[in-house]
Amino acid sequence: TAGVEAAAGTVLLGRYELGGLLGRGASAKVYLARDLLTGRSVAIKSFPNPRAGGDSGEDRPIEREAAILRRLRHRHVVRLHEILATRKKVHFVLDLAAGGELFSLVDASGRMAEPMARHYFRQLVSAVRYCHARGVFHRDIKPENLLLDAAGDLKVADFGLGASSSDHQELRHTLCGTPAYVAPEILSKKGYDPGKVDVWSCGVVLFVLAAGYLPFNDASLVNMYRKIYAGKFRCPSWFSPPLRHLVRRILDPNPATRIDADGIMSHPWFCDGATDDDIVH
Ligand code: ADP
Ligand code: MG
Repeated sequence: TAGVEAAAGTVLLGRYELGGLLGRGASAKVYLARDLLTGRSVAIKSFPNPRAGGDSGEDRPIEREAAILRRLRHRHVVRLHEILATRKKVHFVLDLAAGGELFSLVDASGRMAEPMARHYFRQLVSAVRYCHARGVFHRDIKPENLLLDAAGDLKVADFGLGASSSDHQELRHTLCGTPAYVAPEILSKKGYDPGKVDVWSCGVVLFVLAAGYLPFNDASLVNMYRKIYAGKFRCPSWFSPPLRHLVRRILDPNPATRIDADGIMSHPWFCDGATDDDIVH
């Protein structure tokens, strides 16, 4: 049954007690909720039920996102526990990322010191590599979709634009992503390798974390796309030489020569100071 009013001011959704709004995206609203059986907090992502509009078919975006999430089980990917459907809504019960957005950790100048950026970038790349190995591509990696759990560990969220290797055509031809994070080959509409596209967006995230501003930016979208196309950007003076090198290897406009996830993992900047993991938290 749909949201039942329990005690005054309490909304129940099955065994979950709904709390406040955590965030909203283009497709859904996300609420804090408590599992009354276990006492644990969860996040509930609520979509309008497409069936309410008489829509049908296997490739509805919500079904796709659900199918993708069901395949993934990784410490740095938000996990789907169950799906509840009411007449008007579909609710995903998800791991709660209680620590908010990764970007809340930037300092007053809007950035992170390199060791901290490396710590989270490693977690991001481990999640992305895992997804790719499972045949899943996120295609919308950007700060709003990178959250933190209560322990301060990264959780990749929002596979709403995700695709799996069984999606064939869709996988390589859909125009998707967010302008500042989109790889140049997506803009050229000739088909792309979805893995290389995720690597590119990870590179933009890494740049933003360590620089405090976007590598490709312009008040005009056309000019921004031109810069992305040309791979034209400048690293700030404070980037270390190995970080500059890695960022250049990732933000290579040619996907054929761009470094891949395995390459990133053996890059000197990525491997530097293997004990960095101890310095955060
Ligand atoms: P959309 O597909 O509409 O973009 P998202 O899945 O990105 O929706 O969720 C929207 C926002 O809700 C996120 O940017 C984040 O702030 C918040 N959010 C999403 N999932 C969680 C979660 N598991 N825990 C905490 N907050 C979340
Ligand atoms: Mg989102």
